[in-house]
Amino acid sequence: MAVVARMAGSAAPKREVAVRVERLVRRFHGNEVLHGVDLQIRQGEFVALLGKSGSGKSTILRAIAGLDEGVEGSGRITVPDRRSVLFQDSRLLPWKSVIDNVTLGLEGPQARAEALKALDEVELQHRTDVWPKTLSGGEQQRVALARSLVRNPDLILADEPFSALDALTRIRMQRLLLDLVKRRQPAVLFVTHDVEEALRLADRVVIITDGVVSYDEQVGDARLSPVRFDERRTEILGH
Ligand code: ADP
Ligand code: MG
Repeated sequence: MAVVARMAGSAAPKREVAVRVERLVRRFHGNEVLHGVDLQIRQGEFVALLGKSGSGKSTILRAIAGLDEGVEGSGRITVPDRRSVLFQDSRLLPWKSVIDNVTLGLEGPQARAEALKALDEVELQHRTDVWPKTLSGGEQQRVALARSLVRNPDLILADEPFSALDALTRIRMQRLLLDLVKRRQPAVLFVTHDVEEALRLADRVVIITDGVVSYDEQVGDARLSPVRFDERRTEILGH
């Protein structure tokens, strides 16, 4: 009952912080591209990371994913152990069937059952035993999404995962992702250079400009409606 009373208040209780990035600096060949990025994401929160090409989005994502070994820099990153990364290309193994791509690295009948469930969630239950190359780009991304889901991640890191898809498929994938995220409640960091996509998906928009966070606001409430964002587009994005 106490929970109900708290929920009835004006603000929902804050969930715990899933991702904490502090003073993140990264350099390539001595050239500093991240100058001290601070970012927090709460469990269940969907954050879109927006910025121009070359602004440092992928560098931040790779650092959080732990995929930037050997890159020079400093800072502190706290992340959940169970995380999953989606790239622009699905990165499926062409010599393995769809279901074997989904269960990759997992073992036992339980893994297969989970994989079938995940493939069902992305509406590919009828394509479990085919080769990836027989699937369309959108279907391949759905397999990649299923591969993420079976690992039941607390954090999904996505680097422009839908930008190579045609407009209709992209919208379908956005709906599917939103639906899955609502049900499973991971924290999400979704990199995109597409303002509309960011506003459609995210609870919060963070903009990176030349290696620093230049903007960080909720979009899920009255503070920043799409219309207001449009009014302030030049101020926010610089174009
Ligand atoms: P975004 O994803 O926003 O387009 P990136 O994070 O990929 O930007 O890149 C930020 C900057 O860092 C760019 O100037 C890019 O050229 C540089 N950069 C990224 N990765 C490397 C790398 N492996 N080697 C050298 N420079 C890199
Ligand atoms: Mg990038």
